[in-house]
Amino acid sequence: MFENLPKRVHIREVGPRDGLQNESVFVPTEVKKEFIQRLAAAGVSAIEITSFVNPKWIPALADCAEIGSRFSDMPGIATNALVPNMKGLEGAEQAGMKDISVFMSATEAHNKSNINKSIDETLRQFETLVPAAKARGMQVRAGLSTAFGCPYEGETDVRQVVRIVRALRGMGVDEMGIADTIGVADPLQVQRVLEQVLPICPVQEVSLHFHDTQGTALANIMVAMEMGITHFDSSLGGLGGCPYAPGASGNVPTEHLVYAFERMGIETGIDLEKLLEVGVYMQQVLGHPLPSNGLKAYLGRKQRAATTAVKAAAAAAI
Ligand code: MG
Repeated sequence: MFENLPKRVHIREVGPRDGLQNESVFVPTEVKKEFIQRLAAAGVSAIEITSFVNPKWIPALADCAEIGSRFSDMPGIATNALVPNMKGLEGAEQAGMKDISVFMSATEAHNKSNINKSIDETLRQFETLVPAAKARGMQVRAGLSTAFGCPYEGETDVRQVVRIVRALRGMGVDEMGIADTIGVADPLQVQRVLEQVLPICPVQEVSLHFHDTQGTALANIMVAMEMGITHFDSSLGGLGGCPYAPGASGNVPTEHLVYAFERMGIETGIDLEKLLEVGVYMQQVLGHPLPSNGLKAYLGRKQRAATTAVKAAAAAAI
């Protein structure tokens, strides 16, 4: 069991975009900048920084041009941004982005509610958008939401996932991001879906995006790693929540992955303690607890250490 685990994995931190987009109040641009800088200082080498969407749709990301321009060129760090259409692509280009992500859903109802188009309409739009990004020298990732389950349609038909992956590959996308947007997948379903996807997409060009709504994310990732996947999305502190289940956990926390990988001897390049300190900072500036159990445990250890130090100082004073 687990004989093919990789020596190194690549974690893409999605907190600054996927995470902060779900905050109920606008997070100041300066806080976003500090967040990204601190992540980089902790050794995170791939960061999803923003989305070039119309601010009328997503006011939380109205500062995309400023964030994009500031971080499109970070030595040694791959920063990417979401792009929904040609206007977004122009914005990303002006900001100097070299990596972009297009995104759609594997189920009709979710695609309709998220981007107000049918799946075929979206694919037709991407037939122009993806080559236009490639012509600008950009790396293009395609994110496929609800690839395992949908809040409206239930379990996703894997044939639909295969059809969309094949179409996107045909357009020249560099990476396929397969997402469990509502966190319903289990390890055997992950195996079934990957068995269908890997014959049509090279394993090193597949990344996975798990939510931990049911606590299955790390188990899913173990199965995916055993099948050769080495690229995973996660968000610090589990930032992001789940838009369909108020109070439920969102993205799998980056610190859970770094902790587990480190113990198994799988390199991430990320310093766990520094990363957790970024979590402490974000929890302070956002003014509410983040869902991650790993961060809660770290905060508990810090508090105990502080209490012990105060007691020791008091005893010394006596
Ligand atoms: Mg997510």
